[in-house]
Amino acid sequence: MLLKSKLPNVGTTIFSIMSSLAEQYNAINLSQGFPDYDCSPELVNLVDHYMKKGYNQYAPMPGLLSLRERLSDKQRKLHTSEYNPHTEITITAGGTQAIFTALASVIQPGDEVLIFDPAYDSYAPAVTVMGGIVKSIELNPPDYKINWQDVRKLINSKTRMIIINSPNNPTGIILDEEDMRELISITHNSDILLLSDEVYEHLVYDGNEHLSVSRYPELKERSFITASFGKLFHNTGWKVGYCLAPEWLMVEFRKVHQFLVFSVNTPVQYAISDFLKDEKNYLDLSTFFQIKKNFFSNLLKDTRFDLLPCFGSYFQSVQYARISDEKDTDLAIRLIKEFGVASIPVSAFYSKNTDHHVLRFCFAKKQETLEEAVYRLSKV
Ligand code: PMP
Repeated sequence: MLLKSKLPNVGTTIFSIMSSLAEQYNAINLSQGFPDYDCSPELVNLVDHYMKKGYNQYAPMPGLLSLRERLSDKQRKLHTSEYNPHTEITITAGGTQAIFTALASVIQPGDEVLIFDPAYDSYAPAVTVMGGIVKSIELNPPDYKINWQDVRKLINSKTRMIIINSPNNPTGIILDEEDMRELISITHNSDILLLSDEVYEHLVYDGNEHLSVSRYPELKERSFITASFGKLFHNTGWKVGYCLAPEWLMVEFRKVHQFLVFSVNTPVQYAISDFLKDEKNYLDLSTFFQIKKNFFSNLLKDTRFDLLPCFGSYFQSVQYARISDEKDTDLAIRLIKEFGVASIPVSAFYSKNTDHHVLRFCFAKKQETLEEAVYRLSKV
C-alpha cells in the first residue's frame, strides 16, 4: 500500500536517542527536562484521596470548574489579567496537547507560522501536520536576541501566527519589555495570532520577571497561552496542563479539544485544584530552582565548559570552544560514552540543525546528581 508520510522528515527525537544511550552507558541523565526527585507527597496523597473517594469518571470537557477558577484567580493576582473560568480556560493533557490543539484550531493549509529557532521540538511538526508552513528565524548565542527587523521582513498576508516561548527551552533566555513592545507593534491591526508557551513561567532567576503576554491587552486579545502542571509541580509524568485564551479563540480550541481528548484525568485535577489554594506551592518555585541553578553553575565554572546566560527555565547551556571543535552531537555522544553524562546538543532545536557548539544540561536534579555530573564533566 502507498502511504505518504505527513511528517517525512521527523525521526526519533534526540531526547529518546540521548536517554536510551544514557541508559545503555549508565550515564547521569541531564538531557531530558524532568526532575530526578519526587513531587510533593501532599499532592500524591490528594490524588490518592480523590481516587479512593470515587472521583474516577470523566471530568467536564473544559476541565474541573474549581481548578479553572483557581487558575483565573492566579492570573489576576500575578498578571492583573482577567480570564473567565467558564469560557476562557481549558484543562489539557499537558502543555504539548495544549500547543497542538491551539494550532489545530486555527491553522489552515498554507498559513505561515513564525518560529524562533532553537525551539521546543513540538511546534514545527504540529504546524506541518495542519498543512501550515513553518518560517524559522534563527537566533544565535550567546544572547539569542530577537532581531525584530528580521521578523518584520518575514511577515506577509499569509502570516497567521507567531510562536514565542519565554522563559525559553533550550536557551534559558526571557523576553523583555522591548520585545513585548515590538510584538505589539508588529501584530497591531493585523490578523496575526500568538501562541505563547509559558510552561516555565515560575522558573525565573536573579530578580528577573516573567512577562506573560496576558499582561498586555493588545497581545492577550490575540493569544493562546499554554502551560504545564508537570513543570510547575515536578510531575511531568502526570501530563496535565492548560490553555488560556480569549473566548473567540477558546470556542475554536474547545471544538478540537473535545474530539482530541474530550477531558483530562479527574482525580489529578481535583488534587491540583486543592494544591493551588496555597500560593506558596508555586511562588516558592523560583527560589527552589535558583538554588539548583547557582549550585550547578558555580560547580561548572571550574570546568572547561563556558556558561551561557540563563535567566529562566531549568536548562543551563554551555559552549565548549576550550575543549574541542567537534560537532555538538558528536561531543554529546562522546560525553555519554567516555564520561558518563548525558546532555542535549542544541543543534537538535534548529530546523536546519545549525551547530553553534552548544550543549544543554537540565538542572532539575538532586544536588548529589548535579555534583557527580560536574565531577565527571571536570575531567573533560
Ligand atoms: N513547552 C516547552 C517549552 C517544554 O519544554 C515542554 C516540556 N518539555 C512542554 C511545552 C510540554 O509540557 P508537557 O510535558 O506538559 O506536555
